[in-house]
Order: sequence, then C-alpha cells, then structure tokens
Amino acid sequence: MESLLTLLTDIRACTACAEHLPFGPRPVVVANTAAKILIIGQAPGTRVHQTGIPWNDPSGDRLRQWLAIGREQFYADPRLAIMPMGFCYPGKGRSGDLPPRKECAPLWHARLLAQMPNVELVLLIGQYAQGYYLRDGFKTLAERVQQHPLKDRYFPLPHPSPRNQLWLKRNPWFDSDVLPCLQARVRTILELK
Ligand code: SF4
Repeated sequence: MESLLTLLTDIRACTACAEHLPFGPRPVVVANTAAKILIIGQAPGTRVHQTGIPWNDPSGDRLRQWLAIGREQFYADPRLAIMPMGFCYPGKGRSGDLPPRKECAPLWHARLLAQMPNVELVLLIGQYAQGYYLRDGFKTLAERVQQHPLKDRYFPLPHPSPRNQLWLKRNPWFDSDVLPCLQARVRTILELK
C-alpha cells in the first residue's frame, strides 16, 4: 500500500506539465495523515513559488482571519492540510495568474485524500476547486456560497485575494452570516476555545 511519504516524494518529482510552467515544477502541498481540515485553493502565486510556503501572501493573511487562526498555528498544526488545484505556479495571463494546470488534480488529489482519512471539513476556495468538487448547478459564486449547506463536508468560499474586495463589499452577508459559521466549525474541529 502507498504511504504518504512515498506519495509526497512522487509529487515532488512530478514533471507532468513541466513544459507549461514558466519557472518549472515546484509543487507546494502540505499533507498529514492527522489532517482534519483540508484547504483546496487555486495554485501558488509567484511569492508562494519563491518561498515554497503556501498562503504566504496577503490572500493567506485574509484566509487566516476568516478562519480565526494565527499564522503560527496555520503552519504548525498537523490537523490542517493544504492541497491546491494546481501544485505549481502556472504563469501569468492577461489578467493575473493563469488557471491551475488541469493535469494536476486528477493526478494527485484522490491519492492524497486517501492518505488523509480524518478530514472533516474541506474548504473549496474559488471557482476551480468548486467546479471540480461540486456539481451543484449554481451559476454564480455568490449563489453557491450563500446557499450551500453550512454543515456540509465541503465549504465553498470566495478567494481571499485583495482583488476580491469588491465581491466582499457587494455581499455583506458573507461576513455577517457565513464567516461566523465557518469559524465555529473550525473551532469545534480543532477543539479551540
Ligand atoms: S502542476 Fe501538478 S501536474 Fe504539473 S508539474 Fe506541478 S505537480 Fe506535476
């Protein structure tokens, strides 16, 4: 049977879409068999690619605020895992970073999930993660985030990028109604006070 260590070694050696990556492969993934909360975002940006540290940018700062978790715990707690839709920086497009590479999630996600049997909550951040894991027919992110059952294993969220400021302004219910539920679930799962 495959071990998590072997799997992570395979992922680090992956070159499946290397010819499309401007800086070459540098998969950024955090997995642990003790994981209870799994964060599925898009793909590393340049800063994350350079440091190899996931969510090490203003989006990460906002995500930690949403979860009410400090930076230290975010990186040290083995109950938190991070598995983007594309593990390597995909390059720049006309309006920001390119989408995560399509090859990545089908290659690695199911195998990583099999190594994390204790996951209770999966945060689906942004359209790519939601499109891959949810077949709910919602046309807009706002509809999905507002109407998805708050107690479900999957928890869809907008991207916490500063570029999403307008969306957050237009949808004040996200701060007032969704975030308290998210924080309560995180507190319960991580047994925080
Ligand atoms: S993005 Fe994914 S599939 Fe492509 S090289 Fe990196 S790990 Fe492999």
